[in-house]
Amino acid sequence: MGGDIVPGTDPYVPGHGDAAYGVDHYDLALTYRPSSNQLRGEARLAVTTRRETDRLRVDLHHLAVRGVTVEGAALARDAHKGGHLSVVLRERVPAGTVLTVTVRYAGTPRTIRARHLGDAGWEELEDGVIVASQPHGAPSWFPCNDRVDDKATYAVSFTAPAGYVVAFSGETRCAKRRGASVTWQFDQTHPMAPYLATIQLGRYVETRLATGAAGTTPITVLHPAGLDRDAFAASFGRQPEMMRCFGELFGAYPFDGYRTVVTDDPLEIPLESQSLSTFGRNHCSAEWEEVRLVAHELAHQWFGNAVTVRSWRDIWLHEGFACYAEWLWSEASGLSTADEWAAHHHARLAGLPQDLVLGDPGPELMFDDRVYKRGALTLHALRRTVGDDAFFGVLSSWVREHAGGSVTTADFVGHAERVTGSELAGLLAAWIDAPELPPLP
Ligand SMILES: [Zn+2]
Repeated sequence: MGGDIVPGTDPYVPGHGDAAYGVDHYDLALTYRPSSNQLRGEARLAVTTRRETDRLRVDLHHLAVRGVTVEGAALARDAHKGGHLSVVLRERVPAGTVLTVTVRYAGTPRTIRARHLGDAGWEELEDGVIVASQPHGAPSWFPCNDRVDDKATYAVSFTAPAGYVVAFSGETRCAKRRGASVTWQFDQTHPMAPYLATIQLGRYVETRLATGAAGTTPITVLHPAGLDRDAFAASFGRQPEMMRCFGELFGAYPFDGYRTVVTDDPLEIPLESQSLSTFGRNHCSAEWEEVRLVAHELAHQWFGNAVTVRSWRDIWLHEGFACYAEWLWSEASGLSTADEWAAHHHARLAGLPQDLVLGDPGPELMFDDRVYKRGALTLHALRRTVGDDAFFGVLSSWVREHAGGSVTTADFVGHAERVTGSELAGLLAAWIDAPELPPLP
């Protein structure tokens, strides 16, 4: 019927997102009961149609829709099936039509499984919750247009039992207790892709880190009581220095504050959300293999969160850059230099199969370690070719010009050429488009 829906247009996350509209703002009012993992809520999506259409497809998995209303056009009917809420209008509306779609929903949220990508989304902990949505988990907890390039602002109200601390990927405005519950109010005023939205809930204490003379960005850590003091000081405690270092190299921190959540449960891998990153207790360690991840997730605030890919094939624009930031922090903190890391990882990659194309690794390899390391090596090759001043000029102006927006690899190559005034397409193509590992310049 109709054949009107433009399906999700990103082959890395098939079945997610609808190109017929964009969401400008999400207003979420949620209530959560941790003892039974029951979530209910109302989501108001401020929507603008991108093309003429009489239907919108909203992503929402595992949760039951209780009611849908539309302001700005007459609703004909709605149907929720297979993770897709179809909102059908009585008449076609032109591109540029502003609508408000309100969805009431409830249920037991859980992760979404995708072929090649594993599980992502709302995840219960021993006594709490994390949401780790990259790349396809956002519809596990709120109705959304789950496209990496559909950024919106957010206001969230979240009611949970007293005794838990709740965090969102944005600023906490207030927490008001009423009886046995606390309602937390959050917002994110900088455009955010759905996968970067998160809720974190646990029995945490908060540590505020001194931001020092150069920085005014508040940096806080939510963590279980009783973490090892020395390990904390050597890892999360160094974030103000890391932020100062990255601020000098990449430009000012792009959001209002930065928060890390350290769960009591061990986590296999940490994950970035917008203005917030999630780690496990196991990452609180002075070992470089853990400290580098603290730097990595912080660097994603510039590369991945402020400046976000238009489609997932360009994931190296997130992971290669964040990996390179690890090497930069290593050098800045008196450990191995970026040159030494580059030589080390180049030699390692040279011994691995040369069957990955950095600029389009495919969904099954999008988080392959070679994307991270070869992406970082690509940046190092660029740096060696154009020199430090030009290189860091490329990175900082990249963030300045594209923060809040979506980018492609071609955008980056064009940007690097423009800023440096050099012909770089040939050099970068060898690193990005061909499977063979080029020599480091
Ligand atoms: Zn990363």
